[in-house]
Amino acid sequence: MEAILRTDITVREICEGFYYNELEGKGVFGWNSKLTIQPEYQRNYIYAKAKKEVGVIDSVLKGYPLGLIYFIQVGDKYEVLDGQQRITSLGRFVTHKFAIKDKNGMQQYFDSLNKEDQDKILDTKLLIFICKGTESEIKEWFQIINMKGIELNNQEKLNAIYSGPFVSGLKEEFSNSNNANIQKWSAYIKGSADRQDYLERALQWVSQGNVEAYMSKHRQDSDITPVKTYFNAVIDWASAVFSDVLPEMRGLEWGRLYEEHHKKPYNVAEVSKRVHELLADPYVTNHKGIFEYILGGEKDKSLLNIRVFDKATINRVYAKQTEAAKAKGVSNCPDCALQEGSNSTRIYKLSEMDADHVTAWSKGGATDEGNCQMLCRHHNRSKGNK
Ligand SMILES: [Zn+2]
Repeated sequence: MEAILRTDITVREICEGFYYNELEGKGVFGWNSKLTIQPEYQRNYIYAKAKKEVGVIDSVLKGYPLGLIYFIQVGDKYEVLDGQQRITSLGRFVTHKFAIKDKNGMQQYFDSLNKEDQDKILDTKLLIFICKGTESEIKEWFQIINMKGIELNNQEKLNAIYSGPFVSGLKEEFSNSNNANIQKWSAYIKGSADRQDYLERALQWVSQGNVEAYMSKHRQDSDITPVKTYFNAVIDWASAVFSDVLPEMRGLEWGRLYEEHHKKPYNVAEVSKRVHELLADPYVTNHKGIFEYILGGEKDKSLLNIRVFDKATINRVYAKQTEAAKAKGVSNCPDCALQEGSNSTRIYKLSEMDADHVTAWSKGGATDEGNCQMLCRHHNRSKGNK
């Protein structure tokens, strides 16, 4: 791979013919169309939201360095490998897309700046590394600079590594903030479209977690229908089983839940009733586990993280129970006391016992002192499985 450092290219040259696509939220071309600012492996423009673009202009006006920018040379054209967001900020400012604040707190667009400041921006020389190499060399290098420099998340890296028609098609569907479905999807998926969270989820679901292998295999596909179909099947199933859209549903492993449970029939009215009962139950402390608990037939209580007895209650019950047992000459584990053998008179230490609900939580038992008993580990475990 060859790389040369250019220090003579100015903001004026780079912003010549700058074109920003408002709809897709990305800077497309610059440098008189010689430069592709957002190749498909780059992430969407997120500086505007983060208000960082104003910072880029402030830096230039103060004469601070903007850092290294990397271009890849492809024939007689160039692609931005790193620096897309800085270049887009410069281009957007010069083409009057946003204003900065001057010393007096007044909004200033580029054309309202004095000539001196305008020239200062346009004549700023950028520090640009221009690289030429094979696709695999450049991709490997892209990974390296990204690990050191700007933070790309995992899916953004995978999009870079497996760029091609498949990723382009997926991005059009799942990373497009103008897609009207995003609102509906956001009830089930955490994150944002432009940081690839929806795309990542769609790939995880369809590939059963083998995203990288899936992307590699389908890299040259132009048809993304299988991903869309699977994704919609999961969302449709979740919204059919759980008729109310609740904030606790967001970010659950819907793909896995679909695989495990979608073939079973559910009574939608009954499911809705149980969801609300469990949400209102003060002993259920993990609300996010309610959905899987119901899907699994209300068997795995560990999903709900039922409130446990507090330390003070445990200490009081242990002391009371042990004192009574000693007076009677029996074990302080009531189940051991009923049995034959040496354990029938054994006095367990507090650390050898667990607190147990006399009436189980699932049968309406409360988590309070009146419903608490101490059992030895062995008996608590054998009771817990019933
Ligand atoms: Zn026991």
